Amino acid sequence: MAAPKVAVVGAGVIGLSTALCITETCPSCSVTVLSDQFSPNTTSDVAAGMLIPHTYPGTPINVQKQWFKETFTYLFAISNSAEASEAGIHLVSGWQVFKTTPKEELPFWSDVVLGFRPMSEAELQKFPQHRFGQAFTTLKCDCPPYLLWLEKRLKATGVQMCNRKVADLWELHSEYNVVVNCAGIGAHQLVGDEKLFPIRGQVLKVQAPWVKNFIRDGGGLTYIYPGIHRVTLGGTREKESWSLSPDPGTTKDIFDRCCSLEPSLRGAQDIEVKVGLRPSRRCVRLQREVLSQGGVKLLVVHNYGHGAGGFSVHRGTAKEAAQLVEECLAALQGSSSRAKL
Ligand code: FAD
Repeated sequence: MAAPKVAVVGAGVIGLSTALCITETCPSCSVTVLSDQFSPNTTSDVAAGMLIPHTYPGTPINVQKQWFKETFTYLFAISNSAEASEAGIHLVSGWQVFKTTPKEELPFWSDVVLGFRPMSEAELQKFPQHRFGQAFTTLKCDCPPYLLWLEKRLKATGVQMCNRKVADLWELHSEYNVVVNCAGIGAHQLVGDEKLFPIRGQVLKVQAPWVKNFIRDGGGLTYIYPGIHRVTLGGTREKESWSLSPDPGTTKDIFDRCCSLEPSLRGAQDIEVKVGLRPSRRCVRLQREVLSQGGVKLLVVHNYGHGAGGFSVHRGTAKEAAQLVEECLAALQGSSSRAKL
């Protein structure tokens, strides 16, 4: 069989990292990324990029933990390399604070992040409205630089980037052996997935260079995540809202909530408002599917539906998707050798 051709639909963190893992797992493949938007215009560009997992109720915890661990290990290695600054990856320490002690004092990811421990009394004094807290060090991706770094690595390995809206996966049938669907919330229309829904998130990106530690309220609705250049203040979770327009009332509410956690933010400058639609599902759709039309087959691998936690698990799910692509190619190879006999 000639070099197998793989199309990856989507150029957010999931599409780009999946394309990269495919080039690593199947180096003989010719990979093309097709997308109607690239950085800086994807949901992935809006994200805060913190490695704090979100829980998928429909996925076993051991699987989610493995995805997170793979991602943490991968990004930790980058953070310890000379690539760290270009890739926008850095360690960040801080606090997750609660008004009442949570039922689950040790989240499943507590032994993956670094130095997880209960906050001391002295630390808690900074948060007079909170009674309990956890301190740890995790990683943060500054999202647009990380996406550009992934794109640069892909181009260096010969991956083609193509600006194209795909209306139907069957369009790609004559050109590609396997199609990988990483369309994020776009999969709602592309493959008609009714289980996929948006959770709208509005955030503020501000200049506040004195803020060095992250602060997150226990429920995860209010957060302050310092990046290399700007601090992300959040947030909102609006289920089934498709609106990408910033809401000024929400901006004020987010700012006030963050200032009540970190009063010095009243001096923040240069406030930019961003909105993104989290591609949400009970579980990430990570599976092979064989589509069939009039006796013709199309091999598809799906990798979408990462909701609020795409950055936290992207490398783990990308590796698994690349393995599924490898299985598809092995099946194709098997059927083409049988046809020759
Ligand atoms: P996207 O980034 O949306 O990429 C989808 C791609 O598919 C795009 O390039 C799009 O153009 C393309 N596409 C779609 N349909 C088609 C089509 N028909 N034809 C061609 N191309 C198509 N996660 C974390 O882990 N940590 C965080 O701190 C965090 N903070 C967040 C804060 C906010 C406000 C939001 C909104 C999200 C946050 N997330 C966070 C979640 C994270 O952003 C998502 O899980 C992740 O970005 C999903 O990536 P994706 O590649 O699947 O989707």
